[in-house]
Amino acid sequence: MKIICIGRNYRDHISEMNSPVPEEPLFFLKPETALIRAGLPFFIPDFSSEIHHEVELVIRICKIGKHIQPRFAHTYFREIGVGIDFTARDLQRECIQKGLPWEKAKAFDGSAPVSRMKALSGLNKRDAIAFSLKKNGETVQQSTSSEMIHSFDQLIAHVSRYVTLKIGDLLFTGTPAGVGKVEAGDRLEAYLEEEKMLQVDIR
Ligand code: MG
Repeated sequence: MKIICIGRNYRDHISEMNSPVPEEPLFFLKPETALIRAGLPFFIPDFSSEIHHEVELVIRICKIGKHIQPRFAHTYFREIGVGIDFTARDLQRECIQKGLPWEKAKAFDGSAPVSRMKALSGLNKRDAIAFSLKKNGETVQQSTSSEMIHSFDQLIAHVSRYVTLKIGDLLFTGTPAGVGKVEAGDRLEAYLEEEKMLQVDIR
């Protein structure tokens, strides 16, 4: 099982980071050891002093596929949840400056809490799925899948040109604006539509 993450897929987040808009989807991987199951705390690692939360819609791959055509991509996922792409922003900045890969900043243990999954068929419209993140009770990130630059189907088509997708793989689909630093004692709560799906206490 692998975790594939999309970067720079919401214009408001690209603006807040002063990043260029990518011409094609940008993706990177996190290993299985990055996963934290819902309900478990996140421990701030000693190598970073600037861990940011990035709430994202996460889809679960339900069928093995390679070189998937966009028109068939919707048959490769049936479930959706929310996750947090924890990012060591200080290390990421350094990696970007030096032209190095992002793994140190993105792939560390515990960097990917993921909620339980919900059937997409139970949601209104998959092209306008609302999600949000509260930090200590206050909404800090909020968007819908309609704001994505590249749709779920386009992301699946793009990634599967390079990497075979397997059952159980998770695809993080990018974060909207409002990312920010977490401190020990913070409580993060992620919502899919109106439903609280994930709570992560920061230690
Ligand atoms: Mg992200």
